[in-house]
Amino acid sequence: MGMVVKDPVCGMEVDVDKAAATSTHMGKTFYFCSDSCKTAFDKNPMQYMKEKKEKSGGCC
Ligand SMILES: [Zn+2]
Repeated sequence: MGMVVKDPVCGMEVDVDKAAATSTHMGKTFYFCSDSCKTAFDKNPMQYMKEKKEKSGGCC
């Protein structure tokens, strides 16, 4: 059984062994369900990383 992680772009769960595309940003590897999700992430990785942070944290 492979590890399953969330595609930061579309939120879909992706099996790391079957990921269509991967991208490394700031030392972390991200997995994507498709090339188009990777392209969107590469264009503006901060946008997707920020989104994830907001969900888990919450400000003030
Ligand atoms: Zn995706």
